[in-house]
Amino acid sequence: KIKQIAIYGKGGIGKSTTTSNLSAALSELGLKVMQFGCDPKSDSTNTLRDGKYIPTVLDTLREKSAVRAHDVIFEGFNGIYCVEAGGPAPGVGCAGRGIITAVELFKQQKIFEELDLDVVIYDVLGDVVCGGFAVPIREGIAEHVFTVSSSDFMSVYASNNLFKGISKYSNSGGALLGGVIANSMGTPYSKDIIDDFVEKTHTKVVEYIPRSVTVTQSELQGKTTIEAAPNSIQAGVYRALAGKIADHTESKAPTPMEVTELREWAAKWGDYLLAVEQGKVTSQGAAI
Ligand code: ADP
Ligand code: SF4
Ligand code: MG
Repeated sequence: KIKQIAIYGKGGIGKSTTTSNLSAALSELGLKVMQFGCDPKSDSTNTLRDGKYIPTVLDTLREKSAVRAHDVIFEGFNGIYCVEAGGPAPGVGCAGRGIITAVELFKQQKIFEELDLDVVIYDVLGDVVCGGFAVPIREGIAEHVFTVSSSDFMSVYASNNLFKGISKYSNSGGALLGGVIANSMGTPYSKDIIDDFVEKTHTKVVEYIPRSVTVTQSELQGKTTIEAAPNSIQAGVYRALAGKIADHTESKAPTPMEVTELREWAAKWGDYLLAVEQGKVTSQGAAI
């Protein structure tokens, strides 16, 4: 059975980087993968194709009356099928509707079956502030949702909003949450903050991904880390993530925090980090 996954997260948090490395690592496991970029920025699949952009589904639909799905599918690293949904012209139309249009084109032409795909990963812009970007959750496009988050408050805030979106549709056939992919783990506290957040919201961390210069170097070559630095520690982390996602079967509804609760939660962490900086508490958290 085909596994359909949506990856959400705040803009610039590392969704496309993580998704592309995940796709690359899944393809190494012998799985047939499609990466479906759903960000109007349409740069999701770049590092699977030597840094090159591909024409988007929506642009192609605007230019031609009859579009074959095959016209907008491009092969990338290790045979990964790359698609960019694209977006409406800025200031015109709804980006969420655009995602539906792009996915519908593929469904009508039974492309997922024809290509005999094992996994489709949707890389979606993640500040779920509207119904538009909740489309992959709401319309039953994806089955499992993962969020990429760092320990920064704005990123956690975006994840919490996503959890609200998932909860809202969880009883009407919407996608459920697989967990949090903790990205850019750098300071000793970033892990503690994310661990606390997932505990409060009744979900889990799927993998901790360190902040790494190898990722930057790979990106500058227009490649994923799996391709550019296959023997690096970072590539190993992406492979571990891929193994967990390949085995993942059960997602569930999270318990988002209310906004006041979330702000108090963040303020408490802020006080704690300040106290650490001033040397008032040890790294174990005990007051001196
Ligand atoms: P998004 O798709 O969420 O907008 P990107 O995947 O494009 O974000 O990542 C934004 C930037 O952050 C990129 O330059 C990328 O190389 C960098 N980045 C993401 N994850 C890491 C990481 N673990 N270590 C170092 N740099 C990272
Ligand atoms: Fe944009 Fe969301 Fe409004 Fe659609 S619903 S136009 S995606 S803000
Ligand atoms: Mg992106």
